[in-house]
Amino acid sequence: MRTPMVAGNWKMNMTVEAARQLVYAMSPRLREIAGVEMVLCPPYTALQAVRALLEGSDIGLGAQNMLWEEKGAFTGEISPSMVKELCNYVILGHSERRTLFGETDETVNQRLRAASRAGLTPIFCIGETLQEYDAHKTAEIVRRQISKGLAGLDAAFARRIVVAYEPVWAIGTGKASSGEDANKVVGEHVRPALAELFGQDAAQVIRVLYGGSVTSANASEFFSRAEIDGALVGGASLKADEFVAIVKAASLR
Ligand code: PEP
Repeated sequence: MRTPMVAGNWKMNMTVEAARQLVYAMSPRLREIAGVEMVLCPPYTALQAVRALLEGSDIGLGAQNMLWEEKGAFTGEISPSMVKELCNYVILGHSERRTLFGETDETVNQRLRAASRAGLTPIFCIGETLQEYDAHKTAEIVRRQISKGLAGLDAAFARRIVVAYEPVWAIGTGKASSGEDANKVVGEHVRPALAELFGQDAAQVIRVLYGGSVTSANASEFFSRAEIDGALVGGASLKADEFVAIVKAASLR
């Protein structure tokens, strides 16, 4: 049995004070929910404050990206050990990083290798664009992102990786995939691609989340599917009631 996970990607939202208010509003209720691994991913500037508020709870903390280099002349970047000082998780390969900031399968792979060295649990994002979806290229794209993104990683680390299947056309658009379609992509392409790299056993252990316009209204549509182990939530993770309701839905899985 894979433990469900719900992770909130706050993206470039929340000042330190707003982040504190959001955590005050949701953490007492999140602490009452059992059986779900929960992770909050605030912007870097709020990590320290959120970490202090989560101390003593099982709620995890994640960064939204990092560079693979350890230190040096990389203005504006943040290193794996800087992330590891504060967090146990890191989102890598998010489609906004790929499309807006030029990240590629190769640079995402370098980040994943660095996460392995640093002892971080990556939430590795994959998914096809609308154009690729319309061209029926979903299988080809997610298989390529997995084989290149996870190349060279060892099988022991692979078991810790969390994959987030996020069709790009569903992110922030209010147009989620159907549970049936997402389940099919994960069952027919994501897990088989993981199995090719790391073997059947690992492919059954690795958590695969769905992401893309998940709300409290549609969450159970995804969580009721055999291949989907939770969600990476963007917009709805900024609203305490919504995020708590999504985590609750995952606990009923
Ligand atoms: C995301 O940013 O990973 C995401 C899934 O966003 P949203 O839930 O807003 O679609």
